[in-house]
Amino acid sequence: MTKILVIGGGPAGLTAAIEAAKQGFDVTLFEKAKIGENIKCAEGFFDTMKLLGKPCAGVLFKVEQIIVKAKSTYSFDASYLNLWMIDRAVWQKALAKQAENNKVIIKQDFPVQHRELEQLRTAYDYIIDASGAPSVTSRLYGFSSFHKENSARTVQYTLKGDFSHIGNCLKVGLMPDFWGYYWIFPKGKDVANVGVGDFYPVQSESLWARLDKIIEQEGLSEYEILKKIGGICPTAIPESLKYDNILLVGDAAGLTSPLHGGGLDMAVISAMEAVKAIASNAQSYDKNLRAVFAAKLKFERFLAKLWCQRNLDEMDELIKNLEKNRIYGFMLNPHLINDTTITLLEKFFCKTAVC
Ligand SMILES: Cc1cc2nc3c(=O)[nH]c(=O)nc-3n(C[C@H](O)[C@H](O)[C@H](O)COP(=O)(O)OP(=O)(O)OC[C@H]3O[C@@H](n4cnc5c(N)ncnc54)[C@H](O)[C@@H]3O)c2cc1C
Repeated sequence: MTKILVIGGGPAGLTAAIEAAKQGFDVTLFEKAKIGENIKCAEGFFDTMKLLGKPCAGVLFKVEQIIVKAKSTYSFDASYLNLWMIDRAVWQKALAKQAENNKVIIKQDFPVQHRELEQLRTAYDYIIDASGAPSVTSRLYGFSSFHKENSARTVQYTLKGDFSHIGNCLKVGLMPDFWGYYWIFPKGKDVANVGVGDFYPVQSESLWARLDKIIEQEGLSEYEILKKIGGICPTAIPESLKYDNILLVGDAAGLTSPLHGGGLDMAVISAMEAVKAIASNAQSYDKNLRAVFAAKLKFERFLAKLWCQRNLDEMDELIKNLEKNRIYGFMLNPHLINDTTITLLEKFFCKTAVC
């Protein structure tokens, strides 16, 4: 029987383990901490390509509206988006149970060191590296700095206080001279993940100081801080997604959105693709996976570039008219996004010929 080792018990690793076990493979998963305990996330599950649907567990609510603050504040109907707030710990524990029910052996508190990978590579037919960024593989093969250089930096508080004014909505905000955004993602009426991400850093400033200012501006300074986390969102795919018999998935493959840093959907899809490739032709994994995400990532890079080309007044104007323009239409209908439609958008919106 084909022996598979999965490194990492996040969404990518757990999905890979379940899918591989369903193929009849002999699967072991090593997680360095406890499943559901090493989570750095705002917990918005955005199925941007409409390929996955609602998560199987941990759903807190379907997001009704997205509130966007630029110069003014606008609300957009989110009911046609596949967007849910989830409790990731609950979701991941349910996935782990599902994996175990399919005979996956899960070893928790079991970190894999990059020096051990050489030996593990010979003990298993395939390794699926879902250890996040920088991955264990990147350390062995010497490209761990790639992720550090191609990632958004983020910091986040989980705050306790009254968030009933946001309801079942997500709030995001833009700031002048800052190509990133802040978010308020409620987990209910009295707890929310509140953070800020810097996607294209122009100056090395303290993100914590910026977050504190945002919290003051949003009237949340008196709220109790339950948790503080910082992390990176890797926004570029490394040169290769396969190193000998090791396949990279999720954040280890650089798969978070270059626009908003969301990576849960790509973590799950890449894990499915990795197992599909192992079951048919592992050599095809790299090419197939890039093809799956090509249009989505091109569209998101285009939107990020639009933001970088505009000041806050101009962004405000664009956001004010968002529902009337094609960008919103493509977000609702991601299957319509392709090279031709993106070229049309570039012609229409970009200030320079080469956007
Ligand atoms: C602050 C922040 C907010 C975010 N918010 C969102 C959001 O709202 N929505 C969204 O879609 N995405 C969000 N993201 C991105 C999202 O969290 C990731 O894209 C997603 O977690 C990727 O899943 P993964 O399974 O690839 O990696 P991870 O979730 O990072 O899981 C990796 C797992 O591997 C384990 N591991 C690491 N090293 C080893 C080792 N050596 N041996 C064994 N195990 C190991 C870790 O403990 C962990 O459990 C956010 C990211 C950050 C930093």
